Amino acid sequence: MKFSTKKRFIAGVVCPKCGLLDKLVTFSKDNVNYRECVVCGFKDEIRISSLPNELTTRVNVSQNQKDYEVSPVRFVDPK
Ligand SMILES: [Zn+2]
Repeated sequence: MKFSTKKRFIAGVVCPKCGLLDKLVTFSKDNVNYRECVVCGFKDEIRISSLPNELTTRVNVSQNQKDYEVSPVRFVDPK
């Protein structure tokens, strides 16, 4: 997939820097796709093929938090 060199707004996308909606544009330069925020100047390279890997990384991070095993606490009746 390749974007046009003309900047186009991405609908429904929030800027990861300033958090505003519908302010990101996509464009292609030197066969590299970029996204850019027209408000705060945020600019990032889009690597579509690596998107699933990023999702896997996020899952791994959340799994690290699961290393903390919660032991069930039993209140023993002291009779
Ligand atoms: Zn922004």
